[in-house]
Amino acid sequence: MELTSMKGLGPKSQVLLNKLGIYQVEDFMSYYPFRYELIKRSNISELGDDSPIIMDGIIESVPVIRYFHRRMDRMSFQLNSGTDLFGVTIFNRSYLKNKLPVGTKITVLGKYKPKNHSIVASDLRLGLILQEHVESVYHTTSGISNKTLQHYIDLSLEQDLQVVDYIPQSLVEKYQFLEKRQSILEIHHPTSLAKLKLARRRLKYEELFLYMLKMNYLRMTRRQNLGIVRDTIQDFSIQQFIDQLPFSLTVDQLRSIQDILADLKSPYQMNRLVQGDVGSGKTIVAIIAMFANYLSGYQSAFMAPTELLARQHYQTLQTMLQDYEVKIALLTGKQKAKERRMLLQELQTGKIDILVGTHALISDDVQYVNLGLVITDEQHRFGVQQRTCLRNKGVIPDILSMSATPIPRTFALTVYGDMDVSNIHTKPEGRKEVMTLLKKSADMKEVLTLMLEQLKQKHQIYVISPLIEEEEEGTTDVSDVKTLAQNMAKAFGKYYKIGVLHGKLSAKEKESVMEQYQRNEIQILISTTVIEVGVDVANATMMVIFDAYRFGLATLHQLRGRVGRNELQSYCLLISDKEAERLEVLTQTTDGFRISEEDFRLRGSGDLFGVRQSGEMVFQLADLKRDFSMVVKAKEDSWNFLNSKEYVNKKYDYLRKKVESSSHFDS
Ligand code: ADP
Ligand code: MG
Repeated sequence: MELTSMKGLGPKSQVLLNKLGIYQVEDFMSYYPFRYELIKRSNISELGDDSPIIMDGIIESVPVIRYFHRRMDRMSFQLNSGTDLFGVTIFNRSYLKNKLPVGTKITVLGKYKPKNHSIVASDLRLGLILQEHVESVYHTTSGISNKTLQHYIDLSLEQDLQVVDYIPQSLVEKYQFLEKRQSILEIHHPTSLAKLKLARRRLKYEELFLYMLKMNYLRMTRRQNLGIVRDTIQDFSIQQFIDQLPFSLTVDQLRSIQDILADLKSPYQMNRLVQGDVGSGKTIVAIIAMFANYLSGYQSAFMAPTELLARQHYQTLQTMLQDYEVKIALLTGKQKAKERRMLLQELQTGKIDILVGTHALISDDVQYVNLGLVITDEQHRFGVQQRTCLRNKGVIPDILSMSATPIPRTFALTVYGDMDVSNIHTKPEGRKEVMTLLKKSADMKEVLTLMLEQLKQKHQIYVISPLIEEEEEGTTDVSDVKTLAQNMAKAFGKYYKIGVLHGKLSAKEKESVMEQYQRNEIQILISTTVIEVGVDVANATMMVIFDAYRFGLATLHQLRGRVGRNELQSYCLLISDKEAERLEVLTQTTDGFRISEEDFRLRGSGDLFGVRQSGEMVFQLADLKRDFSMVVKAKEDSWNFLNSKEYVNKKYDYLRKKVESSSHFDS
C-alpha cells in the first residue's frame, strides 16, 4: 500500500520515510524500535549526579533563550512539579518557545543535577504523565519525530495488513515460536518483558533463518551449476612449474592448490575462498591456479582492488611465467582509448590468456572468448554488485577469492556462507616475526634513532599517517602526510630520499613513486593507507604508524604485513598517545585470526575490517556476535529445510519465490 494513502502523510514525509527504508505502509510494521523507555515520574531521593530523570509539571517562568557559537541555542525555564521547583535547560530547541507559555503542562526527560536542583533536558513532551507506560524509541531522521513515527506505525498496525511469515511450520513447532502478528504487536507495544523477549526471539530468528536460507540456496545451486568441464588438467606441467620456483611451497599453500585443482577438475562451478594472513603467499597460489586454467585452454581474469596492486600482480605474473608462452595483459581504467580498444580485441580473439586489472575488468565492454577463471584479490574490498556482475561474465567461470583478512568464525559463517574455504595458516619458512613496539609521541627521538638504524643497514621504511594534510579535519593533533614529510626531510633528507604517496595523487604519480620505492630510489615512503593492501617490497623492514589509535586492529595488522617479507628482522612502531590498551594486542601476537577476534570483540560486527556488508546483511534485530548460537541454528535449520519435502510443498511457494529470486542478493 502506498505511503501517501495514509491519512496526513504527504509527499514531504514520504521522502523522509524513504530515507529510513520505509517505502510502503507494510514497512511500518517491520520498522522495529531500537529501545524502550519506561515513562514514569522519577523519585528524586533515589537520583545521583547525572542520573536519567523523567519529571512532569507546569512551566513556571517564561523560557529564556541564549544563542552561542554560530548555530547553537540554549533555552531555560522553571518547572514546578507540585513538590519541587527545577531549573530546566535544553539545547537547540528554541523553535519550541511559543508552544511553551507559562502554565503549560509538560514532561521533561533528561539528566538530573542535584547540586543546583536542575535538569539538563534531552526531550520535552507536552502533557503530564497520566499513567506509567512503556514508550518505544525508533531511529528517526531530522524532520520526523519519534512521536510521528509511532503514530504511523500504530495506524499501520490497526489496518490488519497481511503479515508474511517466513518460518516454516515445522520450525515454529520445534521452537514454540510466538505467532508473527502477535510478535509484531508485542515488539511495538510490549505487554510484559517476558512476552517482549519471546517476540524478539521469534523475529530475530526469522531474519537469520531467511538470510541463511538464501545463502544455503546459493550454495546448493552452485553445487549443481554445471561449470566448465576441463578435459585435461595437466598435473605434470603444474608440478614442473612448482618445482622450478625459487622457493618451496608451504604445506598450506600446497593444500590450497590441491583444493583448487580438484575444483577445476570437477564439472561444477568453483566458488572458493583462500584465506591467509598477509605475507602467507596467496599470490603464488593464484598464479598456479591461472597457469592450470591456461593449460586447459581458458582465459583468466585477475582483479585487484587498486591499480597499484594490479600493476604489481601484473609484474609478478610476467616474471613468474616468463618461460612460458602465456600472454598476460594489464587493463586499467586510465588507458588511452586506442590502447584499450586493441587490448579488448586481443581479448576477444583469445590472444590474451590472463587479464589483470581492477574493477575495469568487469566493465560492460570487456568481452572474453572463453573466460574460465576469475580471481579476486582481497575480495572483501569489492562491492556486492561488482562481484555479482563479474560472476555473470563468460559462461560460468570458476571463482577464486583471496582474502588477507582472517575473519572470525562467527562472521565467516554468514559472509562466506556459500563458499568453500581454504586456509593458509603457516607462513613461508625463514620469516622472522615482525617486532612490534608501542610508542608515545614524546618518544619521537627514540623512534627516529630506530629508523636511522634501519636506514644505515640500507633498508627501507614505510611511514603511515591517517591524513593527507592538516586542514582535512580542521585539527592539528593528528600527524598528516605533508607535515610528516617535512619533519622527516629535516631529520633524514640530507642522506636519504623521501617519497609521498596518497589517494589524491594521480595514478601516474602513484605508480612512479611506488616504482622508485621498489627500486630503492626512495628509502622512506610516507603514505596514507593506500598502500594497505598487498604491496610487496621485500627490502622494507620498518613500518612506522602515526596516530595508530585511529585505525582498527585489523587494518594495523594489514599495514604491519607490508614488512617482514624476507629473512631480515623487521619492526613495526605504533605511535599513539591514546588507546594503548587496545593496541597492546598487536605487540603480543602476529596471528591475524586472533587479532580479528579481538577487533570483533571490541568493535562488534558493525564495521568489521572494512568488510562491505550487503544491505541484507544488516539485520534489524540480530547481532552476529551476541546471537551466535542462533546463527548456527538458523544455518543448520535452513539447510535441513531446503533439503526436506516441506520446502517443495505448495504452501511455501511464496518462501521459495523470495529465496530463489534473490537477484540483488550478495552471495
Ligand atoms: P599475500 O598472501 O599477502 O598476498 P604474497 O603472495 O604477496 O603474500 O607473498 C609474500 C612474499 O612471499 C612474496 O614475495 C612471495 O614471493 C613470497 N613467498 C610466497 N610463498 C613463499 C614460500 N613458500 N617460501 C618463500 N617465500 C614465499
Ligand atoms: Mg596479496
